[in-house]
Amino acid sequence: MQKNLDDIFDFKKLADECVKCGKCIPVCTIHNVNADEVTSPRGFIDLLGAYKSGKLELDMNAKNIFESCFLCTACVETCPKSLPTDMLIEQARADIAQKFGIAWYKRAFFLLLRHRWLNDLAFKMGWVFQTCGFKIRADIDSMTSRVNLPMLKVDRLLPSLRKTSFLNAHKENIDNGGKRKVAVFIGCLGNYNYRGIGDSLLEILEALEIDAFLAKDQKCCGAPAYFTGDFATVEHNAKHNIEYFEKFGDDIEAIIVPEATCSAMLKIDYEHFFHDNPEWLARARAVKDKIFMATEWLEHHTHLRELLASKHKKTQIVTYHDPCHAKKMQGVHKEPRSLISQCYEIVEMSDSNVCCGFGGITMQSEKYHLAKAAGETKANMIEKTKADVVSAECSACRMQINASMNYKEMKTEFKNPIELIAEALRG
Ligand code: SF4
Ligand code: SF4
Repeated sequence: MQKNLDDIFDFKKLADECVKCGKCIPVCTIHNVNADEVTSPRGFIDLLGAYKSGKLELDMNAKNIFESCFLCTACVETCPKSLPTDMLIEQARADIAQKFGIAWYKRAFFLLLRHRWLNDLAFKMGWVFQTCGFKIRADIDSMTSRVNLPMLKVDRLLPSLRKTSFLNAHKENIDNGGKRKVAVFIGCLGNYNYRGIGDSLLEILEALEIDAFLAKDQKCCGAPAYFTGDFATVEHNAKHNIEYFEKFGDDIEAIIVPEATCSAMLKIDYEHFFHDNPEWLARARAVKDKIFMATEWLEHHTHLRELLASKHKKTQIVTYHDPCHAKKMQGVHKEPRSLISQCYEIVEMSDSNVCCGFGGITMQSEKYHLAKAAGETKANMIEKTKADVVSAECSACRMQINASMNYKEMKTEFKNPIELIAEALRG
């Protein structure tokens, strides 16, 4: 049951709509690691209703509660009334940011996300110096700190940096001799850390004879800032990206995104963000129909499945994790499986739809103990499948799942489905 935008942001009405059935509680990521009514969808909705009607002060305790939601949308999927707890929390986080400010390191990070040249420079410097403070595991694009720091313990696996970003490593227009052309939106982790995703996507497009436009003026989709309440950064990046997409939209068939969170942000959350700005709401809506997750577009608009079926079967066993922003938000879950299964055996984990526990910047910093606890559930599920590879079309999931598997010293590799497909095409 889809809600219209006006209803979504009427907190009081939504709080009254909750029938307290409790169906959302067993699926709630935060409630499963912090079993308290206030950290449950039902509790959040009650508190948010009270806050918006002036009965609850936005104090440190309320801040702490509202920052503990993983924004996984598992509750929205389960709720018989489709109450959008995640969106209410996102709005409340903007009020929190206004009242309490945003930590300096998050502000510095969001500043980088606004300016690609600054981001390029910072990541280049990071690449030069990363070996001083971190042990690099180049085989999985990851690293661990050499010393224990408050938010970085030596056993915590993080993404490492590449010398050259994906966007800087290739020409903007790649002619594959085809009559078709798509734009690629790569996302920040794919651009600076997990470069194999973009490189693999270009290999696939070459095999399909589809030209690629790398859209080098793209900015971060703004999701990290949106989930943290930095709405100024979201507005800055969203307006830039929409204007940019408008400029080249007529020259391409689609903008394909091998990242669930970026795709959901561009396609769905821009609309929510501009709900009270008619001009930009209309512009966000006008570009959204060209945006697709990469596997979604490749499955429905190309002969990739048939091409993969003609290739040799691989011996690796794959288990597929459904990113919250892919299955729950965009309904994309059959497509990656359909493509991967042409060349790999897929063994399903007990609940591929359970959130991996990434949760955003705050959850990955001040509240990392919660992310770590939520990640253990997913790692246990993956381990039970005995798969060689766990796959998900999301680099935030990759960062979190890699860290969770590392705590258990698991040998399972993580690969984006686009990387698996490119490997299968190579033979
Ligand atoms: S979005 Fe996820 S963590 Fe937040 S209340 Fe809903 S189920 Fe719980
Ligand atoms: S499932 Fe929906 S209606 Fe039921 S308690 Fe949760 S939020 Fe309220």
